[in-house]
Amino acid sequence: MALITEGKVKSVYDIFNDEDKVHIRFHDKVTAGNGRTIDYPEDKGKVCCLISAFLFEIIKKHGIPTHFLGTDGSNTMVCKKVNIIPLEVVVRNVAAGSIVRQTTIEEGTEFNWPLIEFFLKDDAKDDPLLTTDRIIQMGYDMEDVGEMEIMAREVNSLLKETFDSIGLTLVDFKLEFGYDSGQNLLLADELSPDGMRLWKEGKSFDKDLFRKEEGDIVEAYKYIL
Ligand code: UDP
Repeated sequence: MALITEGKVKSVYDIFNDEDKVHIRFHDKVTAGNGRTIDYPEDKGKVCCLISAFLFEIIKKHGIPTHFLGTDGSNTMVCKKVNIIPLEVVVRNVAAGSIVRQTTIEEGTEFNWPLIEFFLKDDAKDDPLLTTDRIIQMGYDMEDVGEMEIMAREVNSLLKETFDSIGLTLVDFKLEFGYDSGQNLLLADELSPDGMRLWKEGKSFDKDLFRKEEGDIVEAYKYIL
């Protein structure tokens, strides 16, 4: 299989004889601080892939268009090939992370209406927060941006309900979208605790455990799975 692109913890491969599909392999690797801190915990790839596949199944079942087609082994998702839109869409139910660092909003503040924020997906620029005017000036179709927001809110409702059922609060998460060969807008990338904040009884069950050196992420992710 030919490597198409290599991210920080996942690699995307072409599938021989099928130009519309890709394999996304999850590695036993975790990074924080824009790749400045790295570790290689055993089973991490498998657990993230399986959580991601489980959540994509729920989202698909509810009619939200995604790139997810299935799995191949325990650490690989089979997906439609998409051109990733270089925007990170963050949904927030509770204040944590950058919104607390950058504003006067206190950590743990519950939002009545989920906040949707767009960031530029560009590590070299440290993924800055965007404004609507900036997004327009960058040439994005605002109808598609509106569609991403609607899909992000629907995904939030489904994920919140799912995590609520195991006693976890979905604090925030990041989504990525892409266009397939027919120019359809699809939810893409992954849905794992690497890109979410999940709290239970004052404890984190997400990548903050690694960022803050507060515990074993694979153990927490296995609990979720
Ligand atoms: N997030 C992510 N990748 C990024 C930036 C953020 O997966 O490049 C996730 C992060 O794990 C959290 C949510 O998006 O669940 C909101 O992140 P935030 O803006 O608070 O930034 P952070 O505190 O992670 O720097």
